[in-house]
Amino acid sequence: MSTTSQGRPSSAAETKVVDAVPKQLYVGGRWVDAESHVTLDVLDPSTGAMLCSIADASPADGRAALDAAVAAQASFSTTSPRERADLLMRAFDLLHERIDELALLMTLEMGKPLAEAKGEISYAAEFFRHFAGEAVRIDGGYQVAPNGGGRFLVSKQAVGPCLLITPWNFPMAMGTRKIGPALAAGCTSVIKPAHQTPLSMLALVDILREAGVPDGVVNVVTTTRANDVMEPLIRSGQARKVSFTGSTKVGKVLLEQCAEKVLRTSMELGGNAPFIVFEDADMDEAVEGAIAAKMRNMGEACTAANRIYVQQEIIEAFGAKLSERMAALSVGRGTEDGVRVGPLIDDVAQRKVTELVDDAVAQGARVLTGGTAPDGEGYFYPPTVLIDVPRTARMADEEIFGPVAPLTPFKDEAEVIEAANDTEFGLVSYVFTNDLRRAVRVAEAIETGMVGLNQGVVSNPAAPFGGVKQSGLGREGGAIGIDEFLEVKYIGIALA
Ligand code: NAP
Repeated sequence: MSTTSQGRPSSAAETKVVDAVPKQLYVGGRWVDAESHVTLDVLDPSTGAMLCSIADASPADGRAALDAAVAAQASFSTTSPRERADLLMRAFDLLHERIDELALLMTLEMGKPLAEAKGEISYAAEFFRHFAGEAVRIDGGYQVAPNGGGRFLVSKQAVGPCLLITPWNFPMAMGTRKIGPALAAGCTSVIKPAHQTPLSMLALVDILREAGVPDGVVNVVTTTRANDVMEPLIRSGQARKVSFTGSTKVGKVLLEQCAEKVLRTSMELGGNAPFIVFEDADMDEAVEGAIAAKMRNMGEACTAANRIYVQQEIIEAFGAKLSERMAALSVGRGTEDGVRVGPLIDDVAQRKVTELVDDAVAQGARVLTGGTAPDGEGYFYPPTVLIDVPRTARMADEEIFGPVAPLTPFKDEAEVIEAANDTEFGLVSYVFTNDLRRAVRVAEAIETGMVGLNQGVVSNPAAPFGGVKQSGLGREGGAIGIDEFLEVKYIGIALA
């Protein structure tokens, strides 16, 4: 990739990656315009400028995509596991071959720094490698009936055509985390990426085409009319499953829609992660863990530390260290060398973070660093540390989705467990302590689907990712991730 002397990719490099992306819908193995020829604009959040226009699907386009997925289902589900594994491995290799171009594309549409975008593509590719392995390990069972009179044969079959809906914050990894197991299991799909970041998904689908995914097996619709396009597909009864990653609010709407035809669902929803630091923790390790848990993706992650509880004896020292590290993170366009914090996704996000910080300050929180959005183009917000944030602050209940670390003191284990669980969410928590007994007690008492013990990042394609309470249903990744796309079939065999 060519760069200027400042290390910023030249506009020629940027234009080249944007130009290379297909701008149409992918339906039945063909790139096609939206039937109405309407387009939607994709913007660069670091400037607000338009990157390009792409097809804006209508409900009719959605139906065509689902028809293609339904038509391809029967033959795809009978391909051999090894064929499906090989497809995934070819796509894995292509993602790595194109990692520089794909990372630049992701940075342009989503804002995250290039190094993080590369990290995401590598993480995204890993779901393909992981599920290539799982494709050839789909198992079953054989059992003698308890009365000895018959046999039970248990097998697993593809669920059927799936609707996969993904958010903007991890534009590629949230796709491969669904597409990987769907392909491995033998399911066809219609994918709907977020309207803010469709380019990474279009590039990914083109890679899947190049890897040899049969026509109709993977289809993509980009649209500004998410509900108008997806609701009829969900209610049609032609799809057998909806796998969604996004907000709890939209997840609830989809669950209601899925109820009509009793569709299988996987729901990866919002988070409100507690990050707990006990006085016996290694302070430097906890600060680094907080930076990782808070600042990945500029704080725009479901796993982001949203409430940082620090034992009262060490909160001032922890706050000083954390704010020194946060203040040193450079903010700017994600394409520039050394930038660690890119823009937020849009003006709505920037306004929400501003409101949440203002509310916490009005309720008595002190600003240790940051705290004010800069003037000028782009949707930037500086790394911010607040201390003495009361539990009544809005940010104690709502996802901040920005680079703001709110510190709240606690007295003892019982108090912090009660505070950590005082939320409708239950995706992930982080616990920093050097006391093994306490670590186990707290990890078991916290109501979250995942716990990071002395670590600020839990995401790993080989581990089961998912939440409890209103953070979701089901798990993605890990050995069990493929089960979300498989139905168990029991065949009773009479012997007498
Ligand atoms: P969102 O507003 O819920 O949107 C997610 C996706 O759903 C987008 O593609 C969106 O399309 C689509 N959508 C919205 N309304 C819909 C409807 N009525 N029918 C069908 N699709 C609809 O969430 P977001 O703002 O993109 O993402 C941020 C949220 O995702 C946060 O809450 C975050 O915690 C959560 N998240 C969770 C995980 C996890 O694994 N648990 C991972 C990442 C993010 P449009 O683009 O048209 O709006």
